[in-house]
Amino acid sequence: MPAESPKKSLQTLLTATEYRPPAGFAAFPTAIHHASTVLFKDVAALRAGNWQDKSGYTYGLHGTPTTFTLEARLAEIEGGQHCLLAPSGLAAIAMVDLALLKSGDDVLLPDNVYNPNRELGNWLARDFGISARYYDPLIGSGIAALIQPNTQLIWTEAPGSVSMEVPDLPAICRAAHERGVLVALDNTWSAGIALRAFDLGVDIVMQALTKYQSGGSDVLMGAVITRDKSLNHKIELAHMRLGFGVSADDVYLVLRGLATMKLRFDAHDAGARKVATWLKARPEIGRVLHPALADCPGHAIWQRDFSGAGGLFSVLFDARYSEAQTDRFVDSLRLFKIGYSWGGANSLCVPYRIQTMRRDWTDAGQLVRFNIGLEDPADLIADLEQALLTLA
Ligand SMILES: *Cc1c(COP(=O)(O)O)cnc(C)c1O
Repeated sequence: MPAESPKKSLQTLLTATEYRPPAGFAAFPTAIHHASTVLFKDVAALRAGNWQDKSGYTYGLHGTPTTFTLEARLAEIEGGQHCLLAPSGLAAIAMVDLALLKSGDDVLLPDNVYNPNRELGNWLARDFGISARYYDPLIGSGIAALIQPNTQLIWTEAPGSVSMEVPDLPAICRAAHERGVLVALDNTWSAGIALRAFDLGVDIVMQALTKYQSGGSDVLMGAVITRDKSLNHKIELAHMRLGFGVSADDVYLVLRGLATMKLRFDAHDAGARKVATWLKARPEIGRVLHPALADCPGHAIWQRDFSGAGGLFSVLFDARYSEAQTDRFVDSLRLFKIGYSWGGANSLCVPYRIQTMRRDWTDAGQLVRFNIGLEDPADLIADLEQALLTLA
């Protein structure tokens, strides 16, 4: 879908379907095409088949009408031109790295990066001859000083999904582009809804569809979205060489989630702001790391660049509470379940040992991350209140 097509509201885009069913049949959902083998009508058609051509089909791994439909819709929602699906968000990150980095190259990652992305960076550095260096997520245009002649790629995350700093993406992109370096953004937090990444200069957008796009806590999938055809082609080669297939049933679940994604996202956002504001007023809490609240590093950048916030934020408890005490708080929650991920209907809570994850962390308080689900915020607040009493 061309990004310049007539301007529709995001909510209308989310309800649109480009799927064309066979003649004589009409329905809203995209068909679920299960296929490894794709049939050719003759040898000439087989010989003419090009796996990169999204108007044609060559083999299930390279795409079916089901996967191509989701890719086209995600590209349009994000304001991009091209999209490739991967079996998880982390696989999408790996696909970008393997497409763009080779031995001798350098990649920069924010110090607050999604931890498995850091693991991947460390692995590339240890075993593949690539240098992976970490930068202060609030570095902004200062990133220029870190860029070396062999730097190929800068990862960004807006905000970091545990400590929540909001980076200055336009400043990072300007510094990178002046030096011929590509910028990739993990845009999972805002689901492609609350941050228009390409307009800010980002070259590559990665989404963990596992989160808001699916919305059901039941699918693992990732996407890489670009505007530039030759850049997409490089990532497409990695996608093909790695054999990253996705299940047609899972694609269907993600397609099904899109129509309600913005309504859900806005509900997560409203609930999270209520809960975060309530926590902010509690004496047990030191800081609330929610980009829409002033405590959060990069809050002013969030105000400038974002149109919403979603359901994920963290708090730092007052430093007088030990890890054992805040663990008891987490164990005492009833509506909030303990588990990774977010974007589903159920509220979740995870304590992180942030002091061991970061080189430069100075706050002594225990960090706990909340995913606010779709429950009534008043019930979530009552749950938090009874659990906070266990700290006494
Ligand atoms: C969940 C997540 C991922 C990875 O997605 P998976 O599908 O779980 O592999 C990547 N980045 C962020 C910020 C995430 O929250």
